[in-house]
Amino acid sequence: MSDVISGERAAALDADGAASKATLVAALTAALPHDIVLTDEESLRPFECDGLSAYRALPMIAVLPATVAQVQTVMRICHAHDTPVVARGAGTGLSGGALPLEKGVLLSLAKFNRIVDIDTDNLRATVQPGVRNLAISEAVDHLGLYYAPDPSSQIACSIGGNVAENSGGVHCLKYGLTTHNIVRLEIVTVEGERLTIGSDALDTPGYDLLALMTGSEGLLGVIVEIVVKLLPKPELARVALIAFDDLRAAGNAVADIIKAGIIPAGLEMLDSPAIVATEAFVHAGYPTDATAILLCEVDGTTAEVDEDMARVQAVAEASGATEIRVSRDDAERALFWAGRKAAFPAMGRISPDYYCMDGTIPRAALSDVLIGIAELSEHYGQRVANVFHAGDGNLHPLILYDANQPGELERTEAFGGAICELCLKHGGTITGEHGVGVEKIDQMCVQFPTAELQQFHAVKAAFDEKTLLNPGKAVPTLHRCAEFGAMHVHNGALPFPELERL
Ligand SMILES: Cc1cc2nc3c(=O)[nH]c(=O)nc-3n(C[C@H](O)[C@H](O)[C@H](O)COP(=O)(O)OP(=O)(O)OC[C@H]3O[C@@H](n4cnc5c(N)ncnc54)[C@H](O)[C@@H]3O)c2cc1C
Repeated sequence: MSDVISGERAAALDADGAASKATLVAALTAALPHDIVLTDEESLRPFECDGLSAYRALPMIAVLPATVAQVQTVMRICHAHDTPVVARGAGTGLSGGALPLEKGVLLSLAKFNRIVDIDTDNLRATVQPGVRNLAISEAVDHLGLYYAPDPSSQIACSIGGNVAENSGGVHCLKYGLTTHNIVRLEIVTVEGERLTIGSDALDTPGYDLLALMTGSEGLLGVIVEIVVKLLPKPELARVALIAFDDLRAAGNAVADIIKAGIIPAGLEMLDSPAIVATEAFVHAGYPTDATAILLCEVDGTTAEVDEDMARVQAVAEASGATEIRVSRDDAERALFWAGRKAAFPAMGRISPDYYCMDGTIPRAALSDVLIGIAELSEHYGQRVANVFHAGDGNLHPLILYDANQPGELERTEAFGGAICELCLKHGGTITGEHGVGVEKIDQMCVQFPTAELQQFHAVKAAFDEKTLLNPGKAVPTLHRCAEFGAMHVHNGALPFPELERL
């Protein structure tokens, strides 16, 4: 692994004019318990990266507040000292959103780990941002309820991070992303003020700040409380494992299933490299000779599940499936999903490093884009495995590389950029659920024209005039875009000429 941020990114993250470490430590420790202000290298090391471990930096200071009042104090002090702040949940993000700044404060929300209230009348839970995603469903399981968005990282990632990234998961095809499953947020502004956004009712008048805050990657405020929606658990869920010997047939089957009027609870795809690596790791019973498999789950009453599953099987057969296995009980269903959920870690067994991309495309373009990714893989001379939310058209190409080999990280970045732009070319977007962070910041220059980027900056300035919240992430400066030399995809040539033929 590279243990420094690559040059240009580091330059973008440096914040000039920040207060000296000694001044800031003195201000923070005068106002807060000493043990929540971490300053020595050993204590700071655990925060040096998130799930995108190719990029690392030690924060100047890390603070671990336990109360909203303490968060407000941190923000007031940092604002007064012109010091940038990076909020951090569990650090599982895959786009470098929680990457610290060497001249900034890392604000960990790890101690905000309480479920504050469960309201069974209105099917709501009030939770602190550091609560793990899965812990919400576990806490209401005995009531026959659950929280629907289920990122594969749900055992570890925090609900605050989910809101900041607008995270998705296997079940978001039917039940929506994080933004569709929350109703109210409490945030602390960059000046240390506490704001309520949204309400416990279904809608609020005025601009939709709840939607704006969701997916804002820590650039607009610090989330300190969240009210999430709870759903009754379906009576039954079954998953079909559907194998194909042709990538195009598998991609077409995804569109065909949804065109047939079925809305699966989850519809995921793994290609051959992902199947082989996952099966060796989890032994989920995946056919290792398949070119691709789909996992298609339907849920509802027993009658609904029987009817939908019969239709899924008929569509899959018509689409050229070579094998269809429907889970016979909950244990088998869990086993089929266990493979999918462990697919990312499984890559660690076949490659020293992997770089997870996150483009989203219209479903009908799936086959073309998968074939395009295979061609890019040959062009860049790097292996790629695909495991993704096929029903949402949300791709996760995992580029396999070895950071210890000179030039491989840079080539991987270029390959990743080309995949983003391939998605744009097919009417998609550069990220579906993992956020832009530092990873895809240059591709923002390709997706958005200058006028739109200027509006993003205007929104940022309305919340954070001094640009202290997570600077250098998610929204590129116009200067950076000029340097990148990108042209808006609709206006002409792509910066990767090899994409023209895909
Ligand atoms: C194996 C694996 C599988 C994954 N699968 C999925 C998946 O299926 N779907 C998916 O969407 N993602 C997935 N992810 C990515 C990641 O888990 C999500 O993006 C998750 O929401 C990040 O949560 P976190 O608590 O780790 O946030 P962090 O990584 O700590 O932070 C992410 C971003 O949120 C900001 N942030 C965090 N907390 C707050 C807060 N309280 N207030 C303001 N800003 C905040 C940070 O500044 C940063 O920009 C996966 C990651 C891994 C490692």
